[in-house]
Amino acid sequence: MQKMQSINTYRFILDPTSRKYKCPNCGQRSFVIFIDSQTGEIMEEYGRCDRESKCGFFYHPSKGGFNNSRNSDIVIDKIEIPSPSFHHNSIVEESMQLKSDFLKYIGLLFGTSAANEVQSKYKIGTFQHFNYSTIFWQIDGLNNVRAGKIIKYSESGKRTKNISWMHKFLLHNNFIKSFNLSQCLFGLQLTNNDKTSIIGLVESEKTACIMSVVFPDFLWLSCGAKGEFKLAKLSAIKDREIIAYPDCEIQNNGTSTYDEWKKKAEGFNKVGFKIYVSDLLEKESTLEQKKQGIDIADYFMKEVNGT
Ligand SMILES: [Zn+2]
Repeated sequence: MQKMQSINTYRFILDPTSRKYKCPNCGQRSFVIFIDSQTGEIMEEYGRCDRESKCGFFYHPSKGGFNNSRNSDIVIDKIEIPSPSFHHNSIVEESMQLKSDFLKYIGLLFGTSAANEVQSKYKIGTFQHFNYSTIFWQIDGLNNVRAGKIIKYSESGKRTKNISWMHKFLLHNNFIKSFNLSQCLFGLQLTNNDKTSIIGLVESEKTACIMSVVFPDFLWLSCGAKGEFKLAKLSAIKDREIIAYPDCEIQNNGTSTYDEWKKKAEGFNKVGFKIYVSDLLEKESTLEQKKQGIDIADYFMKEVNGT
């Protein structure tokens, strides 16, 4: 637990692989560089010389200036993050007593037994207080319930823009006094029992659920949003083979999510990840589909239905 937390503690981390660069101070190949854990960016000009007694050169990204002192302390930029809070497992079980419109939609697509399977696999809850919205529980590898993300889906699989969180509801109604949200991947708990499958990583929970039915060879997890494709969230599956499927869409700045994830993944892979960002949608989808911003599940379902 402490280990997992320390990953989130620093924005800039020293490259944990044995890769060494030429030190700008002493010229030896003893320079360990920094990585921006939020973006995956490799910061080659920032780092620490391993020859601590002879050189000790240290240049920290957040300092933005050279620091030649041998006594530079790596923890000076530590950001204190409180321990994550967890929901009681009982509220997860309780929330699974009902069927949300999202589960009805899954049932319409694949039949009731498949919908039940998806529900028990991912532990999908229903929240009657918010018009039978769906609760996508985020449960980590130690079975801690880190978050309950609440989204309203219709029976036709369309969602509203609004997202809420279980802890916000509990705080608002004084059921709890405080909650430190520390998210994990949706479906992360499944990596406990399946340690070998390739991980299919997608943006939305819905896509992961559908893909788990139509392409069960992979273990499907969701990072929750395109901006949540980041080192801290992925660190729990660092040792796994991962194929990432970003939604096919053009962002406001003209770049695609595919481009963004691909660039990030290149950085992540330099520190030991094994992520391949799939270009299937970029290559295969029509212009019309791109405009709609389709995801891998949309694509598969169209293939299945032959439309
Ligand atoms: Zn040096």
